[in-house]
Amino acid sequence: MSKVIGIDLGTTNSCVSVLEGDTPVIITNTEGYRTTPSVVTFHRDGSADVGNAAKRQATLHPERTSISIKRRMGSDYRMKVGSHSYSPQEISAYILRKLKKDAEEYLGTTVTDAVITVPAYFNDAQRQATKDAGRIAGLNVLRIINEPTAAALAYGLDNGESQKILVYDLGGGTFDVSLIEIGDGLIEVIATSGDNFLGGDDFDARIAERISDEIKTKTGISIKKDEAVMYRIKEEAERVKKELSSSLSALVNLPFIVKTKDGPVSFETTFTRAEFERLTADLIEKTRIPVENALKDAGIPKSEISKVLLVGGSTRIPAVQNMITELMGMEPSRNLNPDECVALGAAIQGGKLSGQIVPGSAADNIVLMDVTPLSLSIETIGGIASRLIERNTTIPVRQSKIFTTASNFQSSVDVRVFQGERKFTRDNKLLGNFKLGGIKRALAGVPQIEVTFDIDANGIVNVSACDLGSGHEQSITITSSSNLSEEEIQRAIWKARVYEEEDDEMFSLADEKRKAEQIVKKAQRQLIEHKNDWDKLHRKEVKDNIQKMKRLLLKLKFTRNEAAADTVRSTERSLKALLE
Ligand code: AMP
Repeated sequence: MSKVIGIDLGTTNSCVSVLEGDTPVIITNTEGYRTTPSVVTFHRDGSADVGNAAKRQATLHPERTSISIKRRMGSDYRMKVGSHSYSPQEISAYILRKLKKDAEEYLGTTVTDAVITVPAYFNDAQRQATKDAGRIAGLNVLRIINEPTAAALAYGLDNGESQKILVYDLGGGTFDVSLIEIGDGLIEVIATSGDNFLGGDDFDARIAERISDEIKTKTGISIKKDEAVMYRIKEEAERVKKELSSSLSALVNLPFIVKTKDGPVSFETTFTRAEFERLTADLIEKTRIPVENALKDAGIPKSEISKVLLVGGSTRIPAVQNMITELMGMEPSRNLNPDECVALGAAIQGGKLSGQIVPGSAADNIVLMDVTPLSLSIETIGGIASRLIERNTTIPVRQSKIFTTASNFQSSVDVRVFQGERKFTRDNKLLGNFKLGGIKRALAGVPQIEVTFDIDANGIVNVSACDLGSGHEQSITITSSSNLSEEEIQRAIWKARVYEEEDDEMFSLADEKRKAEQIVKKAQRQLIEHKNDWDKLHRKEVKDNIQKMKRLLLKLKFTRNEAAADTVRSTERSLKALLE
């Protein structure tokens, strides 16, 4: 089996790792960074930029740029760009494809197998969507694992002793708490809790709001609806936030941020850490409850927790560290890099699945056990959610329960599967349903219908029902929770392949255009330099060619026109011949 990559597909940033020997290492991207922004900018012709290149363009084209797409995974959101429409799975696939390419460049070989991480609180639809994104990107997703579990796995490699650990993971857009037990070579997640809509982005938004309010007071202009300006402000807010993690004050500097009738106005102010802490105190407070809930769910007193691990870039905020220290009565561990440990753990899991980890080694001796994030039930009479699998049950798991009919001589039952913690199915999420027919004629309450839930190691659910009297059986794999049909996935895979070729083509075209523009500039420079020594005819010829080239380049800006591209090439040759 070839090398398996471990991918932390983050809300704000993503990271990819691979095992070298027994040790996971971070793969630097082609731009030289260890993490890649989870940002995609689409162009009108269907090509796209991903990562740092996209982040740089986000201010210019906010309407065509996707940020924090992870927040939309599992939903039926579509991003419209010109005549194209992109699902969250397709957008995430662009990010995964870039990580795959970077890994291939680094390893010098093709990579197909991957382990991808998701927040522990992701439901079935979100997990399935992540798997589909992997497929669209051309990856064979061997396993989806929870982010805090991956962090613990990275941690478990270094620390053999038996202990209970709390993983506090505050990233760009999601917050997860997990209680993990490590002992006898086993890592077990014993409880999870969190908030899918809380992260560093919310901290940036608070600063950005404050800045835009101050701009309004200063200039009387409201900029909140101007996407491009707000994007610039959010970027500056994030920079300021990061600076405040190590300094007590930071300068906000936004040159020419608003246009007034007297011309552009710049904005400058100083932000203190105290002010930042005041503005975001409630966000930090919000993370307390999931920590307490996870402890309560596991029935573990705080005193039994021997370590607190911090995961996610936002745990660099001093007020976050102070809060968790005060809440848990201990300093959090700092052995792991919060931005990288999840990807490292995913690579370890990948190595275990591919058999790359040496049998008998410390890493090999660790067995990973995940839990179901939410309870699973079927609907019984009166809309009651009758649970088969409680949340936080270790997976893979199989559970059966016997149900019966409600009416005399009922020949079929509807099996409706729900996910969630509420007592009534109407308050939970419907994952799928099917009909079991052919039930043996009998009075109400007599037939014995065995319903079985089977959750595989990825957290994907299979449900079957069997009438024990007749032996009739029906089953479903919960795929309705994935909001893309098989056909849509296949189409997206095909589209991704097509655009991969087009992306390369576009890249070479852009390269040619850049060269042609350089020639035009050179010609313009030489026209000035040779003002006196070039004769009239020569000057006219150069000028005509410059004009022609500019027209052609303009044409190429709006359409992909092969004939124009050919003329650019021949004009470039003539111009070159005329220059020194
Ligand atoms: P992650 O999803 O783990 O990559 O975390 C990304 C989040 O961490 C973003 O919201 C970043 O702004 C935030 N972050 C990264 N570095 C710092 C820092 N030094 N101080 C505060 N937040 C940070």
